[in-house]
Amino acid sequence: MTKTYPFFINFILLLLLTTAHLKSTVQKSDQCKTLVPPELANLDTISNKLHNDPKTIKIASNDYGNIIQEFPIAVFHPSSIQDIITLIKISNNSSVPFTIAARGQGHSTNGQSMARDGVVVDMASFRKQRKGIAISVSEDPLIGYYVDVGGEQLWIDVLYETLEYGVAPVSWTDYLYLTVGGTLSNAGISGQTFRYGPQITNVLELDVITGKGDYVKCSNEKNSELFNAVLGGLGQFGVITRARISLQPAPTMVKWIRLLYSDFSAFTKDQERLILMKGSKQNSELDFLEGMLLMQQGSINNWRSSNFFPLSDHSRIASLINKHSILYCLELVKYYDHQSEEMVDKEIQVMLQGLAYIPGLYYEKNVPYVEFLNRVRSGELKLQSQGLWDVPHPWLNLFVPKSQILEFNSGVFKDIILKRNITNGIVLVYPMNKSKWDDRMSTITPNEDIFYAVGFLHSSGFNNWKEYEAQNKEILEFCSHVGIKVKQYLPNYSTQEDWENHFGNKWMRFLERKHQFDPRMILSPGQKIFNNNYNQQQYI
Ligand code: FAD
Repeated sequence: MTKTYPFFINFILLLLLTTAHLKSTVQKSDQCKTLVPPELANLDTISNKLHNDPKTIKIASNDYGNIIQEFPIAVFHPSSIQDIITLIKISNNSSVPFTIAARGQGHSTNGQSMARDGVVVDMASFRKQRKGIAISVSEDPLIGYYVDVGGEQLWIDVLYETLEYGVAPVSWTDYLYLTVGGTLSNAGISGQTFRYGPQITNVLELDVITGKGDYVKCSNEKNSELFNAVLGGLGQFGVITRARISLQPAPTMVKWIRLLYSDFSAFTKDQERLILMKGSKQNSELDFLEGMLLMQQGSINNWRSSNFFPLSDHSRIASLINKHSILYCLELVKYYDHQSEEMVDKEIQVMLQGLAYIPGLYYEKNVPYVEFLNRVRSGELKLQSQGLWDVPHPWLNLFVPKSQILEFNSGVFKDIILKRNITNGIVLVYPMNKSKWDDRMSTITPNEDIFYAVGFLHSSGFNNWKEYEAQNKEILEFCSHVGIKVKQYLPNYSTQEDWENHFGNKWMRFLERKHQFDPRMILSPGQKIFNNNYNQQQYI
């Protein structure tokens, strides 16, 4: 449903009211000979960066999910960090503050980067302004290589720039056209997480503009409360303008392997064994491990990494899927370069000894490191050319405790998913080590040494996304009913009680941090944690 909204009137009102209010404050300040806050002097410099033309508003009122629609009053195109500080200070100092959401790529699926009746800060336009100056690689004798990168920057650009120095970050997401600020506000997970931790644990330092408009440098040593709040903080405590990320020497090639299983218990046993394997000189560790479901509805090769299985094997794999309903595909990667090329096959052989995949269903590829990390892009471009990228994405991402993953398989994959028979997209399943996460940070994970990321990455039509949402609801209700203690990743809740349950014993701390860093509840209202106007939520 499209909402007709008096953009222009509201926009003018906002500008007039704030301008009038702030100018009178300036005059009063002048009369009293008090200092004029610099942001008030800057008001004129930012007013022409607020846009409310229908096209700009439309983009900011939608996201990758294509389900929720929330109209902001204006979209802000900053040209400097000072502009964002000024905007936030104006809101924070107003008698009636307006909400502000940084919008990275808008690749959230439930309106998390939207701001109904507020202002969306378009980080993509900021990125264009800072082209060539916001990614900077340095070396330090104590900490080695690191990169300072603007929160608005894309991970793909971080990759290309760091590779110029022969180094790269170690922890990634599957898809690289996401912003640094956007993924660090969640966690940033992929097949490297079991070994290197999520992206948030690879951050050394941040620059953050808090909800009060304070511009703060923070790390584990300095302003650590803000640092830990912001990492995984769902945009609630500040806008990340710079992240310092540790780097390591980059490999040039990867050996990329897929193994197929019909038995979920064998599949997860092998996944867990592989992520616990410790490196030694003869047998170093894996660099990446994921897993996914192959089902009748979906295609054997998918947009996430097309053309992996040879055409000659498609009918064999398809008939096994028919027989078992679901096959489980374990995906692992070992990096190498020309010096380690000879060793890599031997190391892989040792690692794979005793694994219980279906005999013969072993597939491997050798590809350049960049091609592997950027593997989703070609699928994206293909879907875009077919008009299938900008469709609804009723996603559900969960963290499932290891002790309950078998029950999850039988109750969710083998029952709900097969019965409903609508899942035709990607379903990811892979384990991670809790020891690689930092519990001081805001992201919530299950309380077990190993937990699984399970991602239902559905694409649907505009007329049937509700069927997928109903399935997602059924999965969550099932877990709650039988006591599977899942935590949502990229969380989307509809009541305050749900949020409190999500954060569990970290809720009070989250709340205190909100009062400390964004007391007027200005930032990232689309997360619906503190600005929970669920009943008024608009759908497309
Ligand atoms: P947005 O969606 O624009 O923003 C997300 C939240 O962060 C919002 O609340 C926003 O206000 C806030 N925010 C944005 N920028 C800043 C900033 N600079 N400072 C503070 N807050 C900010 N995630 C994974 O972890 N692993 C994956 O493998 C993965 N794969 C994906 C694949 C695809 C195709 C897509 C569409 C998403 C994937 N994601 C993955 C999810 C992704 O991490 C989230 O969508 C995340 O929000 C990043 O997207 P974004 O940069 O567009 O941020």
